[in-house]
Amino acid sequence: MPWDLVIGQDRLTEALGRAVAQERIAGAYLFYGPDGVGKRAAALAFAQALQCEQRGRGGPKDAACGRCLACTKVGRGLHPDLHVYLPQPNDARLDDVTERLQRLYRNPYEVVDFQRRPSLQDAGKTSSKQVIYSADGIRAIMHDLHYVPGEGRYTVGILLDADRMRVEAANAFLKMLEEPGEQTVLVLTATRTDQMLPTILSRCQRLRFDPLPAEAIEQALAAREQVAPDRAAFVARMADGSYAQALALTESEELAERRQLALDFLRKAYGLDPMTLPLQIEQIGKLGREPVKQLFSLMLGWVRDLVLYRVAGENAPLVNVDQAEAIRSFVTRLPDARLEAMTGLIEEAADLIEGNVHTALVLTVLAQALSAAMRGQDRTRLFAPLAEPAVTA
Ligand SMILES: [Zn+2]
Repeated sequence: MPWDLVIGQDRLTEALGRAVAQERIAGAYLFYGPDGVGKRAAALAFAQALQCEQRGRGGPKDAACGRCLACTKVGRGLHPDLHVYLPQPNDARLDDVTERLQRLYRNPYEVVDFQRRPSLQDAGKTSSKQVIYSADGIRAIMHDLHYVPGEGRYTVGILLDADRMRVEAANAFLKMLEEPGEQTVLVLTATRTDQMLPTILSRCQRLRFDPLPAEAIEQALAAREQVAPDRAAFVARMADGSYAQALALTESEELAERRQLALDFLRKAYGLDPMTLPLQIEQIGKLGREPVKQLFSLMLGWVRDLVLYRVAGENAPLVNVDQAEAIRSFVTRLPDARLEAMTGLIEEAADLIEGNVHTALVLTVLAQALSAAMRGQDRTRLFAPLAEPAVTA
């Protein structure tokens, strides 16, 4: 496993591998970047490389061997000199925390934090509770990490979402950074660094994790999750560079249906068929606000593909790779379609839904406007600004 645990991010894992090979290990690292791009996976792989008994002693110099006792313990979350922490609500149960950490070890790309997933049984809701590192929590962590390693080569502490510290906790943490143990290595992960104390940032070696290329996500979905190639390609392009998001999309049965619905709506909008269009609008209206927003983002995906296909033809890097035929036929049949205007209209519709405007009304007006744009007419707004106050139903 070693660095293979991490999807993509070769430049970063190579840099970490070099540091390990030369035993030039900083006292603290900050891995930062968007969710789901591999910060946690890299932190665990790094911890394993640090602890590996065979590294440089018969095994590789710059990576964990993946087979020795220390590697096995790290892989299962049982190494006594590796500690992983997450910010918590103040009523978090110990068994819940333990279960989250176990899942993290099994798959570091799974969403396990309390903020994005307050209940492990019930995905898709965000927490209203405060999820932070308390000052007391930080002191307990300092206590854990204060000891010299018992059996490993380092004492390693991984603090996930380290940007979730209030001032008091951050100041306590700063003390630990100022007086690190000689064999202690801290790895912080964070989505954003603008909320963190500059004094903390300056004491960490910082590595920025970028969104993953769609190809890397596609390959990993096929190899790790046995997702069928067509679906992997589509999901990878919908995932905004996040493997965690790709995993969530893979599990969603609805996604494929909604994508079809988005295409259907575009087709029916073109024809403005008085029989079928109102029925479909009624059907979509029943879905609820979040699914409708997703529907708009899927429509934008279709339109983006039309733009790409118009420019690059058969070689276009399409989002809906498995639907190239539908896209080709659309582009050929509607040579005058104002694709840029269509994008603007769909975005405006999404804003209106966000602003609580009645879904059926938005869809009706959107269908008319899209129909005009597909026919090459100059329609760039759903509602003229003056009419807006009148339409909030
Ligand atoms: Zn090993």
